[in-house]
Amino acid sequence: MSHQFTEEYASEQDRNDSLSSFRDQFIFPVTEGRPALYFTGNSLGLQPVKAKEYMLKEFEDWARYGVEGHTQARMPWLPYHEFFSKSLAAIVGARQTEVVAMNGLTTNLHLLMVSFFRPRGKRTKIICEAKAFPSDQYALRSQLRFHGLDPDEHLIEIQPDPETELIDEAKIYNAIEANRDELALLMMGGVNYYTGQYFDIPGITKAVQDAGAIAGWDLAHAAGNVLLQLHDWNVDFAAWCGYKYLNSGPGGVSGVFIHERHHGQKDIPRFEGWWGHDKSSRFTMPDRFEPIPTAEAWQLSNAPVFAMTPLLASLELFEQVGMPALREKGDRLTAYLEFVIHEVSRNTGAGLRILTPKDVSKRGCQLSLVVPKGGKKVFEQISAKGVIADWREPDVIRMAPVPLYNSFRDIYDFGRILEEALSA
Ligand SMILES: *Cc1c(COP(=O)(O)O)cnc(C)c1O
Repeated sequence: MSHQFTEEYASEQDRNDSLSSFRDQFIFPVTEGRPALYFTGNSLGLQPVKAKEYMLKEFEDWARYGVEGHTQARMPWLPYHEFFSKSLAAIVGARQTEVVAMNGLTTNLHLLMVSFFRPRGKRTKIICEAKAFPSDQYALRSQLRFHGLDPDEHLIEIQPDPETELIDEAKIYNAIEANRDELALLMMGGVNYYTGQYFDIPGITKAVQDAGAIAGWDLAHAAGNVLLQLHDWNVDFAAWCGYKYLNSGPGGVSGVFIHERHHGQKDIPRFEGWWGHDKSSRFTMPDRFEPIPTAEAWQLSNAPVFAMTPLLASLELFEQVGMPALREKGDRLTAYLEFVIHEVSRNTGAGLRILTPKDVSKRGCQLSLVVPKGGKKVFEQISAKGVIADWREPDVIRMAPVPLYNSFRDIYDFGRILEEALSA
């Protein structure tokens, strides 16, 4: 398909887009009296229009019922977390019993590693990607130290190619093979936050399990972005945040996946709390913990309702669209952004480069753009013109056209602003 870098072409793509009306379900920040060109849905998703109404409902129910809201609220607080399971399961390709919304992402990674990183004998090592998101590195290294293991010895970091900055997947398979007898866990980002590279989750998971180890995935940049089939891929565990592609609002709750193979296992250690305890006897307050036979067993506390409500407004939209249609539009938007960046680079001679893989099966919506000369200044100029993107030192602009609310016209407008900044 031949794209065109024209306003007419972009507008026509929007007219032919069956998902274009979902844009109206979100609130765009306004800069210079116009809606921003918002490309940071991979960092903080936009506010769904319905979020405020739903929040107000909860405030009203709290005022009206006090403690009785646990059972009387329109969305009762006692089973509140259950309202998320169906749509989260559809988004990550899981059974409803395999997912639960709770806590923050890093908290969940720790809770999951309590259960699934159990170094024994020679099996003490963890494989992850080099330059993982800092919080993941801190979590992994502190888990190793918690078990009395030196992270410098026991954490195997797969290095990216220094030229492309991407990780050659063969290196991951080689590291699994080379550490067959010593590997306890692989924990990696499913989509790399910096380059946008999407890894072969089923292939890597299988290789890890064939080596007798556990495969866990941080899906912060994958959930609500790429197509996932966590159950069928036999992933052991995964976690993601709610506030990136899932639009839960700042610090909103994370989601976790625990494969049903691991449910109801008595020999898996777990940090326990009353919200993981059998629902029928929870309020008789027995001394002994009796786990719910689902992923809910990993819950500690009762649901932070106000930190979850906005997510309901967003998940409704995901249910209406469905991930396959979303991904299909996402691929088209990202391909157009890629085209526009190449056009701008050609028109200006700026030598722009895209780090993210060209192969659409190896990426989601995000593109990481390298601006080799004066990148920071270019970023400041486009920001002043209403583009909201994300700057990473030394020379990278990360952008994610999000299929739920971004348009082809957004991309066209961005392209013209970028061109102007590079020509200045
Ligand atoms: C965004 C992100 C986090 C953030 O962690 P929080 O606990 O939600 O603050 C962690 N890991 C990755 C890979 C991320 O992209």
